[in-house]
Amino acid sequence: MFLRIFLLLCCWLGGIVAQAPARWFTVTAATPTVDATALDYTSDAAARALRTLQDEFPGLPRHRFQIVVHADADSLPPPIRAGHHPGSPGLALLGRHQIHILWHETVSSLTAVDHVVQHEIVHELIDQLVEPHGERVPRWVHEGLAQLLSGETYLGAREEDIVWRVAVDRLLPFSGLDDDFPRRPDELRVAYAQSYSYIAWLDRRLGRQRLLATVAAIDDDMTFDRALVFATKKPTAELVTAWSDYLLHASGAPLRAVMENCFSLLMIFALPLLALAMMRRMQREQRARARLERTTPFDDDAWAGMDDGFYGPPAPPEWHHDQERLR
Ligand SMILES: [Zn+2]
Repeated sequence: MFLRIFLLLCCWLGGIVAQAPARWFTVTAATPTVDATALDYTSDAAARALRTLQDEFPGLPRHRFQIVVHADADSLPPPIRAGHHPGSPGLALLGRHQIHILWHETVSSLTAVDHVVQHEIVHELIDQLVEPHGERVPRWVHEGLAQLLSGETYLGAREEDIVWRVAVDRLLPFSGLDDDFPRRPDELRVAYAQSYSYIAWLDRRLGRQRLLATVAAIDDDMTFDRALVFATKKPTAELVTAWSDYLLHASGAPLRAVMENCFSLLMIFALPLLALAMMRRMQREQRARARLERTTPFDDDAWAGMDDGFYGPPAPPEWHHDQERLR
């Protein structure tokens, strides 16, 4: 009897814990074209994300937020579309407790649905963490943390793609990524890759709690850069240089980039050999064809012993020409 009551109690408590995240958000379809399955999946992913993120953001969320699922980027209302980065599967409207998921872009992106939903929820939680100074969190800090804490980058951004920029001093200045990200697809991908790499490096250096505490310290008088200088006891320029050195010499990204392009490089080196082999083959085929044309129709022995009246295959045009000339 006691065992049954205990089990019932466990199930009841388990149910409460499992359902708890769902009371913090609502999931709605922007248009009737959004499938009910997409809503269910988004809702489950959001509940999982909140459970995963509760250690990083204790006590949050403190405000309910809304998740709106759109069919695709083209169906976004114009005011929201203006803030959307091309190719990105979602966006969070900070200060308005709104997340917008673009279902078509989400399922066809390189990032899994769970990671997309978790990425956007990280934006919402950072905004609530720094409230009421959320708008002072630099964009690159938002995107770096959202990618780090969701376990995947956006647009397939990778350190391998930016490591050559370190070598030729072509990284995008972080100061230019404070308010917004570039619109050009190649620069947008670089911005995501840089943000992820630098924040992941700071995370390893400071630890997760200190990094998030540095973000939480932002207020009217404290910028993220300043808070970071206090946390690391290093000036911003020195930190960026140290990260660049890590990227170039200790991240393994240059080797990964070379290995990835190894096949292409091998193909480039193999091209002259392939061309030579093809030329030799063409020459061989040309010689064989010439030999065939020269021998087959005029080989008298090949037609020896045939019945009278069998004259063999049609003679080549030159032969007729010669016969006419003889006549
Ligand atoms: Zn984002």
